[in-house]
Amino acid sequence: MTKPLEGREVWFLTGSQGLYGEETLRQVAEQSQRIAETLNRDRTLPVEVVWKPVLTDASAIRRICLEANSADECIGLIAWMHTFSPAKMWIAGLDALQKPLLHLHTQANVELPWQSIDMDFMNLNQAAHGDREFGYIQSRLGLARKTVAGHVADPTVAARIAAWARAAAGRAELRSLKLARFGDNMRDVAVTEGDKVEAQRRFGVSVNTYGVNDLVAAVDAAGEGEVTALAEEYEDSYRLAPELRAGAERHDSLRYAARIELGLRGFLEQGGFKAFTTNFEDLGGLRQLPGLAVQRLMADGYGFGGEGDWKTATLLRTLKVTGTGLPGGTSFMEDYTYHLECGSELILGAHMLEVCPSIAAQTPSCEIHPLAIGGREDPVRLVFDAEPGPAVVVGLADLGDRFRLVANEIDVVPSPAPLPNLPVARAVWRPRPDLPTSAEAWLTAGGPHHTVLSGAVGTEELDDLAEMLGVELLVIDDDTTMRRFTKELRWNQAYHRLAQGF
Ligand code: MN
Repeated sequence: MTKPLEGREVWFLTGSQGLYGEETLRQVAEQSQRIAETLNRDRTLPVEVVWKPVLTDASAIRRICLEANSADECIGLIAWMHTFSPAKMWIAGLDALQKPLLHLHTQANVELPWQSIDMDFMNLNQAAHGDREFGYIQSRLGLARKTVAGHVADPTVAARIAAWARAAAGRAELRSLKLARFGDNMRDVAVTEGDKVEAQRRFGVSVNTYGVNDLVAAVDAAGEGEVTALAEEYEDSYRLAPELRAGAERHDSLRYAARIELGLRGFLEQGGFKAFTTNFEDLGGLRQLPGLAVQRLMADGYGFGGEGDWKTATLLRTLKVTGTGLPGGTSFMEDYTYHLECGSELILGAHMLEVCPSIAAQTPSCEIHPLAIGGREDPVRLVFDAEPGPAVVVGLADLGDRFRLVANEIDVVPSPAPLPNLPVARAVWRPRPDLPTSAEAWLTAGGPHHTVLSGAVGTEELDDLAEMLGVELLVIDDDTTMRRFTKELRWNQAYHRLAQGF
């Protein structure tokens, strides 16, 4: 069975010791293989689980941790102490480990054989205290990890491991992510700025700027035949506005949009970039602000941020990978305007053009309209409504001394009425617990106006990712009250400053 995140693996480590003798260790190996296999067969798990031989001494433990560090395909380790594995044996290995760790607290059997249980059974199935020894040493070493308790046959257990594996895949993507910026930050905007050196140190992402005319050269170089073929693909894929069709009066604008896509896609592929930004203030020789091209690249998994926003572009690419294969899309988003009817408050989110069609509820229509800002030719864009359902919006801010993630659980809803005069893709949502609390919490946290909206990724994946990255995550959900949220901000302030050391 191919997994959605093909080529990525998590390694399954089983802890024990030599004391038990070969017969017991053979049973330990057999049972832990069965656990790993059960996980592997679970459809929710997005990566392959690779079982490793049972670990019984410090040098083998250290060696497997070093191997995990250097294996690109290994995105994390699951560790289970089937029997008692004296934890001093784990110090050197865990100390050297640089990959995410999940402590699985389980056992081979679901039920105890009450009638037949004897001391042999007790000695073989003692994770209940073997894992406590392991939990102690992880806490003693101050290791970031996720702990999941329960039998692997329980779907909740598999789902929680799957969320962690997805977060680990997002982290692995971040470690090697390359991002291209076309132009710099929108003038005078604060929240889209940030420390790129610190981002590379903490996340791994490398952020570099290119002159927009490097992109223009690639756009101009696209061949007429390719442009024609892509314009035909647009006609087949979307509800194309009559004026944009072949032979119609504005078909040339569609061809130019196709030219932008070809140039942009080629530039990104050639440089190995999986995320990018544009800036409508710095379009050089581009005749249109890239709209359709950006939307289609996002749909293919690229991260994007408008106005030079490399942090949101980074986050979008990360969450695209995290949500691979899950139902629900993931898009660049911006809180735009409110419906403030008391008790029925809603947020209307959109951007100038760049919303990803992976969140579309229906086949997008491909249209051309003027853009009030930027002073260029009318840009081509996809217009659609977002698919209703539970989702999350997430933003990444740079507080100067650290990064902060803010997430809000939301429900995307159908717009209360058609929006015939709004020529951009949009999402309408009800934030949890309610708009006033959500907005007050978001503003108090200093969350950005650019976000990633995802119906694929949920709070658990975000929690796991934040833990792996050592980044603060504030979640605004049904349980949020301003009094507690304000206190959480204060506590976090103290914690994260201490956790960073000097
Ligand atoms: Mn914006």
